[in-house]
Amino acid sequence: MIMERIAVFPGSFDPITCGHESVIRRAAPLFDKIIVALGINSQKQGHFDIGLRIKMIEATFADCPNVSSAQYSGLTVDFCKEVGAKFLLRGLRTSADFEFERSIGQINKQLEIGIETVFMLTQPEHTPLNSSIIRDILKHGGKVDQFVPKAAWQIIQENI
Ligand code: ADP
Repeated sequence: MIMERIAVFPGSFDPITCGHESVIRRAAPLFDKIIVALGINSQKQGHFDIGLRIKMIEATFADCPNVSSAQYSGLTVDFCKEVGAKFLLRGLRTSADFEFERSIGQINKQLEIGIETVFMLTQPEHTPLNSSIIRDILKHGGKVDQFVPKAAWQIIQENI
């Protein structure tokens, strides 16, 4: 049996940003399959509901046959095992991201020796971008079209 190279890209995607999109598109040729996995945190309500966040992810990658989306709760490494993923994909913006990701990545490795975390550097223009800034702009009635994928912006407009 040929082993598929499956990667999980975990996050809350509330909403998906151009930074997320860029990392996923650049990583797509490296894997047979990338699962964009929306981790559900029962303590956090979130801005967009889960169904809408998934819809935005699916619309963004409608042209990428090897990118799919899913939702999960619980440990990310357990979800990886469930779907047969041997790779965790993450993006790195700054040295603060590095320190945060280093500890999660090293702990995940201790939890599950068979899963490697793989990092992609952010594109310079996406470095200051994160989902919480986008939520803030939206809360104050601003436009976020330059910060989120085109397909996601359409869905946001239909739901404001
Ligand atoms: P979310 O923003 O969806 O809550 P995270 O902050 O955990 O989720 O981000 C999910 C992944 O996406 C992380 O690996 C993070 O480094 C990466 N990421 C987030 N924003 C960007 C960006 N602007 N450029 C590149 N990678 C990013």
